[in-house]
Amino acid sequence: MKIEVHGGAREVGGSCIAVETDSCKVALDYGTKLESEMKKLPKDFDAVVISHAHLDHTGSLLRLCKNNNPTIVGADITRDVTVDLLHDMVKIQSEKGNLEFNDSHAENVSACWWSRDSVALPGLSIQLQPAGHVAGAKITTVQAEGKKIVYTGDFCVHDTEILQGLRLETLPKKPDVLITESTYGGKVRPPRKELVKQFIAQMELTMDRGGNVLIPTFAFHRSQEMAKRIDTAIQNGILPKYHVYTISNLAQRINGYFNYHKQLFTKEIKAQKHPFNYRHVKHLYRTSQIESPAVVICTSGFGHAGASLRLLQEWCEDKDNAVILTSGYLPPDSPLKTAKEEGFFKTNDETYDVKAEVKQIELSGHADQTELVNIVSKVKPKRTVLVHGDLEQAELLAEKIGEMTDVCIPQQGEVIDV
Ligand SMILES: [Zn+2]
Repeated sequence: MKIEVHGGAREVGGSCIAVETDSCKVALDYGTKLESEMKKLPKDFDAVVISHAHLDHTGSLLRLCKNNNPTIVGADITRDVTVDLLHDMVKIQSEKGNLEFNDSHAENVSACWWSRDSVALPGLSIQLQPAGHVAGAKITTVQAEGKKIVYTGDFCVHDTEILQGLRLETLPKKPDVLITESTYGGKVRPPRKELVKQFIAQMELTMDRGGNVLIPTFAFHRSQEMAKRIDTAIQNGILPKYHVYTISNLAQRINGYFNYHKQLFTKEIKAQKHPFNYRHVKHLYRTSQIESPAVVICTSGFGHAGASLRLLQEWCEDKDNAVILTSGYLPPDSPLKTAKEEGFFKTNDETYDVKAEVKQIELSGHADQTELVNIVSKVKPKRTVLVHGDLEQAELLAEKIGEMTDVCIPQQGEVIDV
């Protein structure tokens, strides 16, 4: 059996790992990099297993399903969200004049999808189990030729307000290979409770002075998590009554999937009838409907476009306002990055001074270094392959786990014999 890393080697983005035996070849994820063109990944797979619905794990499915009918395996909700995100991608690309893909290719992804937690292929079996991270995220175990490979995809061990984290004790023990993400391989984050406290304190501070709060976020999962967090805080009297809005039609559609699949979430969420119909958070279609002062949760997550760019332009020059960034990573060309680091941003040749407070509070859905070390010490893999992390992060993690397991940080295209 061999493993070949087609994407996500020494970087975050474009995840795709092939596992091949004499009789069978499967892909673990089939992603794209946000900033670049869709990858030309191999297509000769008997099945493609999708860990979760983020585009860096799914974005190349449009190309795969353009003239083929592959077998795609993953959770129900991953299919629903992925297909919506791919439709959105088709729309954005066609607005830029790229007509290579159309809506029928996104629909074909849905038609090719098998939603199940175990699959048997010739001489090879696949098992999926919950990974934390986002709704529907799965850890994949592949068994063939008497060998066992565990692939984490993106995962999170600690619980969040809406989703239970990965239960390490449920993972298969002593696999031949553990392929794990290493996004935060070198970073230990404060406990989540601490971060949520910081977040609430920042909100209170801005609300007290009657400022607006902009929360740029992704339409899938982070938007729902944020809206639910604020909705619950207002309901419980932790935050005062305030105008709170979401502006993202995509996020609004995903709320519907979350309500429908509420059994994927925590006990508290399951107990509610329609947990993602909020009491104090209203959905708007456009920024002109906002009644200030307000808290607005909107896309894009990196502030490149959409309501988050418009509101950043509108609100950045007033020091009473605040922008809260909850993602750890910001692309170098993101307006939010220069707003935070240099106090200005440029868009369409215009420069904006940022006097509003810009706070980064990393409410991430990824395992940090402590959680990554824990998974290795609990699972006890013979060999550990680090993917989905910059080289520096992977190397910092390798130092920590080197005495427990053989560690490999493969390059793109590297083949590992198992
Ligand atoms: Zn992810």
